[in-house]
Amino acid sequence: MVVSGTMRAEDTGMSYVITRKCVGCLDSACVDVCPCDCIVGPVAVDQIRAVPAEERGQRLPGIQMFIDPDRCIDCGACAPECPAEAIHPERDVPAEHVDDIARNAAFF
Ligand code: SF4
Ligand code: SF4
Repeated sequence: MVVSGTMRAEDTGMSYVITRKCVGCLDSACVDVCPCDCIVGPVAVDQIRAVPAEERGQRLPGIQMFIDPDRCIDCGACAPECPAEAIHPERDVPAEHVDDIARNAAFF
């Protein structure tokens, strides 16, 4: 099925993945540009944004965001917005972070 000129992740088996480089950053710029609202985490974005950016690493230790692989449409809008360069297409996840693909999927 073709949606807006691109294949849905559920059809391709591919989605974008957030690696552990997101931990402690929690900028959440990725959330603002995602057309599918498929970037979520263990703490709601509203709660993250209620914490001053400079305090997030300390007050939300070990927290990172994840991409729902069943809802991501593989559009790529999020990756260039990430200041931590933590987001990659699944097929292009750097070798040192390849285990983050399973971590990301396991969150859901
Ligand atoms: S690739 Fe597109 S749909 Fe998937 S998480 Fe990023 S912005 Fe959302
Ligand atoms: S993926 Fe990038 S932009 Fe999104 S919350 Fe994590 S560090 Fe911030």
